[in-house]
Amino acid sequence: MKRSVKRLLGQGLFAANLDAWLLRDNAVVVAFHRIQDADQTDALTIDAAAFERHCRFFKQHFDVVPLRDMVYRLSHGQCVDRLLAITFDDGYRDNFENARPVLEKLSLPATFFIVTEWMGSDVVPEWDRARGVRHPWMTWDQVRSLHRAGFEIGAHTKTHVDLGEVEPGEAWEELLGARLELEKQLGARVESFAYPYGGRKHVTEANRDLVKSAGFRCCCSGFGGINRTGTDPFYLRRVPITPWHVSPHQFGFEVALGRSVLSS
Ligand SMILES: [Zn+2]
Repeated sequence: MKRSVKRLLGQGLFAANLDAWLLRDNAVVVAFHRIQDADQTDALTIDAAAFERHCRFFKQHFDVVPLRDMVYRLSHGQCVDRLLAITFDDGYRDNFENARPVLEKLSLPATFFIVTEWMGSDVVPEWDRARGVRHPWMTWDQVRSLHRAGFEIGAHTKTHVDLGEVEPGEAWEELLGARLELEKQLGARVESFAYPYGGRKHVTEANRDLVKSAGFRCCCSGFGGINRTGTDPFYLRRVPITPWHVSPHQFGFEVALGRSVLSS
């Protein structure tokens, strides 16, 4: 089905309030990476105007809550009707410069999953190096500023390791080390975790157990899908928002019909 058709169907579906029925008992976690206008050449970047359109759509059609509140409700068997949590992976500086003003303008909460050893560094991750681009990371001052402003800071390992590949000893160091560093920098508890790369193959069950042992209360994937009352927060699915979503209504259509799962 063409994306433009999905957008039209999504508009009709939401205009007819069918979403109230289709999204009943659904909790959606959306994942962004970069929000900027300059480099629009890969699937990780959403331009600022499109980001704001998505945020307005979330605010209009969902109950946007902090991820930790969604996790609390899931772990206590409470209803998660139409909840939506906004998350960002890696810690790109444009999150601070471009996403934060939109979130604050619309009074929306969000969680930022940080790769601790990359903050304030000039590390270029493999996916940016492969494309010959370099995007700056937040400084620790910026991470602390987000936290002081009420945004949640979560962990995304120390160096963005593939938890589907590394041995438990290294996984433990990456998980606990990231949490302790964040807690030292913020002076606060850190309990949310998103695993790097986010595909089904990118975490082993043994390493997922270590996420729990390291003091986290959730483990977010990145391969799509929605959550329901009773979903184990250590198997939390997230929907990546990419330039492929030509409009928020296309996103709404995919989510409402349960088609937001990527095959990776
Ligand atoms: Zn990542």
